[in-house]
Amino acid sequence: MYGSIKIRGARENNLKNVSLDIPKRKITVFTGVSGSGKSSLVFGTIAAESQRLINETYPAFVQQFMPHYGQPDAESLENISAAIIVDQQRLGGNSRSTVATVTDAAQMLRVVFSRLAEPHLGSPGFYSYNDPRGLCSECEGIGQVASMDMDAVIDKSKSLNEGAILPKDYAVDSWYWAIYARSGFFDVDKKLSKYTKEEMEKLLHLDDGRKIKLDKMNLTYEGLVPKLRRTLGAKDPETVQPHVRAEYERIFTRATCPSCKGGRLNQAALGSHIQGKSIAECSAMQVSDLAAFVRKIAAPSVGPMLEALAHRLDNLVTIGLGYLSLDRESSTLSGGESQRVKMVRHLGSSLTDVTYIFDEPSVGLHPHDVGRLAGLMQQLRDKGNTVLIVEHKPDMIAIADHVVDMGPKAGNKGGQVVFEGTYEGLLTSGTLTGNHMKKHQPLKTTPRKPTGQLQIKGARLNNLQDLSVSIPRGVLTVVTGVAGSGKSSLIQGCLPKAYPETIIIDQNLARGSRRSNTATYTGILDNVRKAFAKANKVDAALFSANSKGACPDCSGLGVIYTDLAHLDPMVTVCETCEGKRFTEEVLAHRLRGKSISDVYEMAVSDAVAFFTEPAIAKILQGLDDVGLGYLTLGQPLSTLSGGERQRLKLAAELGRSGNIYVLDEPTTGLHMNDVDTLIGLFDRLVDAGSTVIVIEHNLDVVSRADWVIDLGPGAGHEGGQVVFEGLPAQLAAHPRSLTGQHMARRGK
Ligand code: ADP
Ligand code: ADP
Ligand code: ZN
Ligand code: ZN
Repeated sequence: MYGSIKIRGARENNLKNVSLDIPKRKITVFTGVSGSGKSSLVFGTIAAESQRLINETYPAFVQQFMPHYGQPDAESLENISAAIIVDQQRLGGNSRSTVATVTDAAQMLRVVFSRLAEPHLGSPGFYSYNDPRGLCSECEGIGQVASMDMDAVIDKSKSLNEGAILPKDYAVDSWYWAIYARSGFFDVDKKLSKYTKEEMEKLLHLDDGRKIKLDKMNLTYEGLVPKLRRTLGAKDPETVQPHVRAEYERIFTRATCPSCKGGRLNQAALGSHIQGKSIAECSAMQVSDLAAFVRKIAAPSVGPMLEALAHRLDNLVTIGLGYLSLDRESSTLSGGESQRVKMVRHLGSSLTDVTYIFDEPSVGLHPHDVGRLAGLMQQLRDKGNTVLIVEHKPDMIAIADHVVDMGPKAGNKGGQVVFEGTYEGLLTSGTLTGNHMKKHQPLKTTPRKPTGQLQIKGARLNNLQDLSVSIPRGVLTVVTGVAGSGKSSLIQGCLPKAYPETIIIDQNLARGSRRSNTATYTGILDNVRKAFAKANKVDAALFSANSKGACPDCSGLGVIYTDLAHLDPMVTVCETCEGKRFTEEVLAHRLRGKSISDVYEMAVSDAVAFFTEPAIAKILQGLDDVGLGYLTLGQPLSTLSGGERQRLKLAAELGRSGNIYVLDEPTTGLHMNDVDTLIGLFDRLVDAGSTVIVIEHNLDVVSRADWVIDLGPGAGHEGGQVVFEGLPAQLAAHPRSLTGQHMARRGK
């Protein structure tokens, strides 16, 4: 026996004095409805304490540069070892961060090339795009150069007076337009197609500092190309407003570098081969193909290095990522893919007695791949590690040596351990989780009739193989297929291009999320202020965070954020108002006995009963309906998980009709019980006249679809085709569809 992690009296967030022992060197799975307190226990208590202990081992001088974790709210925490958190935080980073660098496969591949490639270059640095000896000087190792799409800049069939200059800021009669139209250089009624070479050169490229006179002002003339590069092109598209970004993306295209053809390396490196392939070609191969290629290289001198590389690639395949290439930029990976890439790094490690903490590692995985993921978790345990997993999928819960089920419900109705013990014990425990383990949604047999069709023809984005498909309007369509089969490419890439009115409900955080909370995001705050003002016969502005009624030290946030360079900010409760956000005077005003601060602390489900004002109650009911009743009205959006943000956005759409909605794995973070509620919501949206298209692996959701489109058959270049389209019951009987096989296997 290796003892256990002992937690006594844990009280983070909604935890109600939780005490439990978690066995070491075992797999413990934490279950429970969303908001029951799983994260508060696993991340807020165990992981936080581990981080704090690790930080304390650094010298005081280093500690001042590290995030400060407060002691988690618990009586005692014993026997906690170093914890490694493998979460869904996307792998940010610049374009030099790739699957190869993140998994350390880049390093191994370079060593192999430096030993075996012909002609022989010397050292591994000659194969690195981060090394001056290896990189392509034209693109500085990025593999791409920004180029302008002239068809998005000018329309040659028009004259300047007819609006030949296309960017929005250059509309006829605008200031920017006048710079060209009134420069005196051009005939404003002459179509651009009739311009001489010199005129075109002047319009597009002239940049010699020449002055022109406009409305009595002296201006420097600048051709369209340098002007757009300077004004728009210099902006970072990630940080600008959506309409500027759209304009940017219309005009600037990142094109493959003509010199290295995207290989990022100089000619010497690209000309050095193993069995006819350069290191850039190897990096562009699908990982599953590269693994086979590496295995075929016979070179005893670097045998151990080849074996280590092949093993690392195999792990990527096992974890369902064989369709990625090593040169794929890590910033383009989804949350689930990022988590699994990080996992591969740890699978290669020989550390033991580490506590690994996973946050729903099966996100984005087809049922077909979940079994292999479970196998890797068991390997980690068998190396002598403690594995803690927050999960909702029955197949993942089934591998637990020990289950901790939180509940009974969410928010202040949760926060307790309702069951702990074996998986078999869970099945007969009578808890919500236990009861749901063997229940399934029935296959839909009488689907809705479509009101029309959305047509996609000849799609070729990423791995799509000249794919054409019709998606029915006015019904619930579920798109299935293994990870990497092309679901996102089709639904999030191609569909919105063909139908720009498509609304994608994603997991991204709105900007300014510190100031935004549940109440501000849903727009109920104005009405709440008015209700307070009316009840107390005072000005509504008094209850606003930027009024003189707000606490002067935290400006109505209740907490103080201390930004630390490169690290998560430190959050502390404001000492002046003790987290109450407003001055004593404002807090004295009551609405049916509650202060404005009490209202911020209220959970949505309680607020539904408290607010009799119809405009407020209706929106709150929508939040409760999407399963977010446990959020407090003042909870900052920055504390919400991706799945919660997505459902918050979904709630905002309820009550609208006639839209096309796209959701990517909306069951992320949802307990089986909450999935039933979500399906009910989709039905409501569709019944109100909208088209709902959902990418999902959850077979309960698939079962309730009016129409299923299954992509595949495999991932990457083995995918990109429609394997099946039809009703869920027909899918279960389909001989070739992997999704169909799993539908059939899980029984009724
Ligand atoms: P789960 O992981 O089971 O979904 P959580 O531990 O995230 O549950 O949440 C438990 C409760 O604590 C919920 O009511 C949630 O709204 C609340 N909560 C979680 N994080 C915060 C936070 N940073 N600030 C305030 N309340 C929080
Ligand atoms: P799914 O949504 O079914 O998991 P994707 O549409 O994300 O599949 O991926 C399909 C294929 O396209 C995969 O081979 C993937 O590696 C590739 N792909 C997806 N996004 C990108 C991207 N931004 N850059 C390069 N390749 C991509
Ligand atoms: Zn280049
Ligand atoms: Zn304050």
